[in-house]
Amino acid sequence: MLTGATLEQLRSDIKYKALYRCELCHRWTLHGHCHHIKSRGAGGDDTYENMVYLCVGCHTDAHNGKISKHELMVLRSPEQSGTGTKD
Ligand SMILES: [Zn+2]
Ligand SMILES: [Zn+2]
Repeated sequence: MLTGATLEQLRSDIKYKALYRCELCHRWTLHGHCHHIKSRGAGGDDTYENMVYLCVGCHTDAHNGKISKHELMVLRSPEQSGTGTKD
């Protein structure tokens, strides 16, 4: 598990890769949050694969259960996005 500066670095990485847009609604925001797809309480890791950049609205919805975990997971699973090439 990452702590302190390393986690901050990962968060800014995720934000940068998302181009400061919410990965769900694509709204541009500098004040979004990095949300764990699988929560740390459920054994999720602090990794790029397990975290998505969400605007405040989507982040709230994700925690309220209005956005399913599946919707978040497809953002990070290449086999479900169709196009094969990545980096
Ligand atoms: Zn959003
Ligand atoms: Zn969250």
